[in-house]
Amino acid sequence: MWPRRNRSRANDDRTARLDMVRNQLERRGIMDERVLQAMREVPRHVFAPAKRRHEAYGDHPVPIGEVQTISQPYMVAVMIEYLRLRGGERVLEIGTGSGYQAAVLSRLAAEVFTVERFSSLATGARLVLQQLGYENVQVVQADGRQGFAQRSPYNGIVVAAAAPFIPVPLRLQVADGGRLVIPVGGPEGQRLVIVTRQGDTFIEEKTVACRFVPLLGTDVE
Ligand code: SAH
Repeated sequence: MWPRRNRSRANDDRTARLDMVRNQLERRGIMDERVLQAMREVPRHVFAPAKRRHEAYGDHPVPIGEVQTISQPYMVAVMIEYLRLRGGERVLEIGTGSGYQAAVLSRLAAEVFTVERFSSLATGARLVLQQLGYENVQVVQADGRQGFAQRSPYNGIVVAAAAPFIPVPLRLQVADGGRLVIPVGGPEGQRLVIVTRQGDTFIEEKTVACRFVPLLGTDVE
């Protein structure tokens, strides 16, 4: 039994999370019930730095150090909804950050691999994911522009950082019939692009405007 103070804080977090899903996601048109349910369950505040926990359920990104952020809840939901996961998939995320999006993905797919460039963030995310018992996620510290060829192909790839172009290795690691979701554009703004692979054909669809931190390394090539 938890002390009363902790119990009521846990209730507050849960209430904030249910409000977040209703007001920020359902009202704006997120319809995939599995995505909504996963975001009702994953404790987003646990992925935020201690001094930012009170703002974890706000309608905005949350700073996590190394000039990086946990993406806004709505963007996490949109990106994941576009992957159209049904439960059996193998998924790759580029840009682990706090590990929050990887945790949501882990509720919706069979296996999740997530690549982070900063070792401090990779280590932190690995620890939180382990503590929360999300065992089907593997955090890899590497340059995400290369994807993670060792475990490819992936039914879904989601990139949580923006690039002016789509890195070729990422396209090549999408399985036949699979999808890649990536923000494409410069620092002033991007569009979320969905690439669907059909054999050797890649169909690109531009969707909503968005604003992500840069995928490091793609600004200099
Ligand atoms: N999905 C994260 C938020 C990602 S923010 C979450 O849920 O918290 C973007 C992340 O991409 C940052 O952590 C940043 O360090 C990482 N990143 C940027 N460029 C990268 C690269 N070339 N390879 C791997 N990770 C990169």
